[in-house]
Amino acid sequence: MADSDWNSGADTSGEIVFTNVRILDATGEYPYSGEVTVKGNRISRVSRGGSRFGGGQYGGATVIDGMGATLMPGMIDAHLHLSWNNAPGIDPIQMMELEEHMLVTMEMAKLVLDAGFTSGRGAAAAKPRLDVVAKRFINEGRYPGPRYLAAGPEITTVGGLGDAAPSHIPHEGLNLGLVVSGPEEVRRTVRQLIKIGVDSIKLNLSGEAITGMGAEETPMSEEEVAMACAEARCRNKVISAHARSSGSVKQCIRHGIQNIYHASFADEESLDMLEAVKDKHFVAPGIAWLINTARHAEEWGIVPGSPLSMEYERELEMCVDTMKKMHKRGIRVCIGGDYGFAWTPQGTNAKDVQTFVDMLGFSPMEAIQAATKYGGEIMCMEHELGMIKEGYLADLLLVDGDPISDVSILQEQKRLLAIMKDGKFHKAPKTGEQRRRLTA
Ligand SMILES: [Zn+2]
Repeated sequence: MADSDWNSGADTSGEIVFTNVRILDATGEYPYSGEVTVKGNRISRVSRGGSRFGGGQYGGATVIDGMGATLMPGMIDAHLHLSWNNAPGIDPIQMMELEEHMLVTMEMAKLVLDAGFTSGRGAAAAKPRLDVVAKRFINEGRYPGPRYLAAGPEITTVGGLGDAAPSHIPHEGLNLGLVVSGPEEVRRTVRQLIKIGVDSIKLNLSGEAITGMGAEETPMSEEEVAMACAEARCRNKVISAHARSSGSVKQCIRHGIQNIYHASFADEESLDMLEAVKDKHFVAPGIAWLINTARHAEEWGIVPGSPLSMEYERELEMCVDTMKKMHKRGIRVCIGGDYGFAWTPQGTNAKDVQTFVDMLGFSPMEAIQAATKYGGEIMCMEHELGMIKEGYLADLLLVDGDPISDVSILQEQKRLLAIMKDGKFHKAPKTGEQRRRLTA
């Protein structure tokens, strides 16, 4: 659309124009002044240069005067558990009864969207249909929440992460995971999850310190992993893995598992393997879980300096070292911190962006791209999500300030002046006049 269209009677009804904004488009280019027009649920126009309009109505369009604020893509969490209910540990997440759990899952979805996350890839659900139903109700516009890809419960081995049932009460409902042993059980489990409508299959390929099976153990057999991948692939489903150990990262690469979660203990050999096929994989370390479990969970019984906390300190140190190496090798490292425990509450997800800058050696621009551009890619929507480009989906944040000079402002919800998802405001901006009065 040319500038003159505004005066030539072109149909601008229903358009929303963000004018007088600094555009942080997440392509890697430094923010520039300009205007962004949204028509329907897509970005129809990105123009550089000064503003043509003040706020208000022009023709049929609604014009929003950004007053110099930053317009950037909505953030995307690569490892999101909407059914993790901010409870103090794995067991209290699992023990919540289904009816409450569904409602709480929708509450979590709103918290995440309120925090500026307009999309997320489900990493695992606490009960089989929670993610599937949450996604459907969000997509139908019945509840607020991020664009979401639904996971099912994690598939795990006997005694692995997610198999918490005591031996004298061997009831599968006590487990956060779906416990399998042998390829045929894997086959049936994957098919059942696909039947209920999940978008991805999640395998627990390593242990986890807090559960008793060590993070450096690799319990699932090659035959089981191969079966899961074959069954998922023939139904066009993406595969994700909880993979902290070096052996489990190698399993991910050998079997083409797209989303490698954690990867803290990946050794040089696995880094070489991963770099060679880096266009096929994403890594999301879930670093907030490590930091907060080691250092900020005393109120919930994990005392800093205790053996468990020290184990997480050790893994955190390994994780930082490994992620720095991956970043240098050009492997895509995404944000998403395993939020949803009492000490990693949903809605604090943007903390990851700062952690990537402070601890992993990302530039602010790189960290923001890890939260946007790479997010669009891990959602398998790289041609329409995660950047501000013409034709892309209109998932946008209007941010008071410059996130490139201080990424921590993304954690302050009052600085998220507007949150748009799919061309509609979840949080509508105040008018320029209202904002002038607020700051006067
Ligand atoms: Zn997780």
